[in-house]
Amino acid sequence: MKQSQLFTKVLKQAPKDEVATNARLLTRAGFIHKVMAGVYEYLPLGLMVLKKIEQIIREEMNAIGGQEVLMTTLQDKEVWGKTNRWDDKLVDNWFKTKLANGSDVGIANTHEEPLTFLLTHYVSSYKDLPIYIYQFQTKFRNELRAKSGILRGREFLMKDLYSFSKTQKEFREFYELCAGAYLKIFERVGLGDRTFRTAAAGGSFTTGLTDEFQTVTDSGEDVIYVDEKKKLAINKEVYTEENLKKLGLDKTKLKEKKAIEVGNIFPLGTKYSQALGLTVKDETGREQPVIMGSYGIGLGRLMGAVVEVSHDEQGMIWPKAIAPFDIHLINISKNQTPADKIYKALLETNTQVLYDEREVSAGSKFADSDLIGIPTRVLVSDKTLQSDSVETKQRGSDKTKLVKIKDLSESL
Ligand code: ATP
Ligand code: MG
Repeated sequence: MKQSQLFTKVLKQAPKDEVATNARLLTRAGFIHKVMAGVYEYLPLGLMVLKKIEQIIREEMNAIGGQEVLMTTLQDKEVWGKTNRWDDKLVDNWFKTKLANGSDVGIANTHEEPLTFLLTHYVSSYKDLPIYIYQFQTKFRNELRAKSGILRGREFLMKDLYSFSKTQKEFREFYELCAGAYLKIFERVGLGDRTFRTAAAGGSFTTGLTDEFQTVTDSGEDVIYVDEKKKLAINKEVYTEENLKKLGLDKTKLKEKKAIEVGNIFPLGTKYSQALGLTVKDETGREQPVIMGSYGIGLGRLMGAVVEVSHDEQGMIWPKAIAPFDIHLINISKNQTPADKIYKALLETNTQVLYDEREVSAGSKFADSDLIGIPTRVLVSDKTLQSDSVETKQRGSDKTKLVKIKDLSESL
């Protein structure tokens, strides 16, 4: 893409009302635009990152047997009535609305009830199980506070997967498989070394312990205690002698850290299947409620977490796997022809290139490039052209390298 064609422009300053680093940097660089607190639009560069995160998650969910669907935002009150969760006292952050005829509808904040209900139309025998269903879908939650940029939205994209199993054993096996897939996802988006499986409270879904995936950073809202060797942690909310023992964690080896919950996995037992009548006939012909689990990742929150942990004074530093482009090609030579040729050649090798061919000063091109944070910068100048070369540099490093133009593709 030619940078002159990008409709967004880099802002000199972050908006005054944004306090979170992720929102300040992403807004300045033109990745997102705020509509109101907790409500953000994704602009071309931001959407490219979001889509790459989505694809990584999709690959890992498909690899463990997930089937993708897309459920609706408007939800049936009756279905929610079956678990009593329509009540605002039980779920306090619902957005709800009314149809023209006056009847109530819910605006999706999660999908346990609708999906369980959906499956009652398709599942009847133990032979139909297990089933793993997931989607990328926008959730709406009337969050009390929304000051953390895209870490906590009132409207946000979530990957939610739900598992439907016939036995506890089958459920547990998938639960562990999914925990492994989550670790792979966080590894692939560049958060592997600082994201920990963390024992946590059951929230509104269950009474036992559940698992969160927490990314350690000072800007996190949660407090966790980490055993770095075991790569395990426990959330402060459930930090008790009894739970430490259950988890085999030694108090003296734990470090207190702040962290962002980037994902979580929950056993749901038979709470929803019983309430909504999702049962299967077992081998002996008896009706058994299906055993369920739910598995969430917030895509925007994950993207925001990457920005929180991977930036410097100049701007963002994207991990290769989710960067909007692979290469930021910058021309500062008066003669644009050599850079144009390099751009074309790179596109032919399927490299994703943002090409800065704008007529602005070299200084502002460099500053914008550092802010946007594409992993590799390729500079074409009169000086580099004298030796038929370009200068390459990795974002986050000061080291530059002179590379012959004919060797560029290979070197990249
Ligand atoms: P939190 O404790 O942060 O409020 P939660 O426990 O309510 O989140 P879930 O309902 O389990 O979250 O949602 C699954 C995942 O969706 C979370 O792990 C998180 O990554 C993401 N998520 C939840 N709420 C938000 C939000 N308001 N904005 C962005 N992502 C969110
Ligand atoms: Mg939580």
